[in-house]
Parts: sequence; structure tokens; C-alpha cells
Amino acid sequence: MIEEFSKFPGIGKKSAQRLAMYLFRSKDQDFQKFVDAVVALKRDLHSCQICYNITEKAICSICGSEKRDKSVICVVEEASDILHIERANEFRGVYHVLGGVLMPLKGIYKEELRIQELLERVKTGNVLEVILALNPDTEGDTTSLMLMKELERFPLKVTRLARGIPIGGDLEFSDDATIGRAMAGRITVK
Ligand SMILES: [Zn+2]
Repeated sequence: MIEEFSKFPGIGKKSAQRLAMYLFRSKDQDFQKFVDAVVALKRDLHSCQICYNITEKAICSICGSEKRDKSVICVVEEASDILHIERANEFRGVYHVLGGVLMPLKGIYKEELRIQELLERVKTGNVLEVILALNPDTEGDTTSLMLMKELERFPLKVTRLARGIPIGGDLEFSDDATIGRAMAGRITVK
């Protein structure tokens, strides 16, 4: 168990030991709840067929909603970024989860990201704007530039979030108002 917890992001050996001990000492019913949640995570959740958000259905609630503007696609690194942007309550379009950013040193190249899937969505011709909402760090910027090139040939607007989010910052750690401002004041790059 310690070995398995050690594989979690941000969990060192000591924390892994604490977590394993916590589970060992937990009441039977609490332990069972934990086990059920772990099993349900893989059994009940999957990626949305359109945007790759995490969902219990084939298509997520955002893609399935008639209230969302399908002509505006906001590209994010991970499905968890959607939660942060949604909390800010500013964006009314739909999303596309890229599944990471370019990290050649870690073996993450263009092919590992859902770029073709994004281009397929754009090709339908109904998309008027693509918002690049990747984290404003070196990898995010490199990936945004590459996406701008890929999107060049399509007759649509490409925008990036305003720099309300500190350089090297993370959507995850930005407050709702900051994300809201960054979204509202987005900059047209193409
Ligand atoms: Zn979706």
C-alpha cells in the first residue's frame, strides 16, 4: 500500500506511510467507502466523447447542454482545469481537454496530445473562436504557439487568456475572480 501511495503525485514515502496507516486504522465502514470510491472511479467515469472532460455519461453535461455556445472552444491541459474555469462562472462556451502539454524531455510530443481531435472539431466549420487556456509556463506557452500554427489555416479567431494569472502560475491555484478576469479580458492572437 505504501508503495502504491508513493506513486501518487506529490506524495513522498513518509506521507505514503501515513496514508497507509490511516487506512489500516480506519473503521470498517469508512474503509469500505474508500474502496467503493476507488472502484467506482474507474468503473463509472470516463472521458466525454466530444471534449474529453471526465463524465459518468458518454457526453459530459457541458457538451450536452443547449445553453452552452458550441462555437467557442476553450482548450485546457487537464479535465481538472474545467472545474476551475467553471467555478469562475464567466465562460459560456465548451471545452477541449488536450491531455497535457508538450514536454519532449518527458517523452510528451504532439502525438500524445489530443490535437487531431481538436482539429477535427474545428473542421466542422461551426467553430468561431478557440481560446488557449493552458497554464502560463514555458511548456504551456510552447504548446500554445504550436496550436496557433495548427489553427492558422482555419477561418476562426484564436485568443489567449489575459495575463491575470501570474507567470509560472497555475489555473488550479488562481482564485475565481482572477480566472474570470483572465477569461473576460482574453487577447486575440489570430
Ligand atoms: Zn464534453
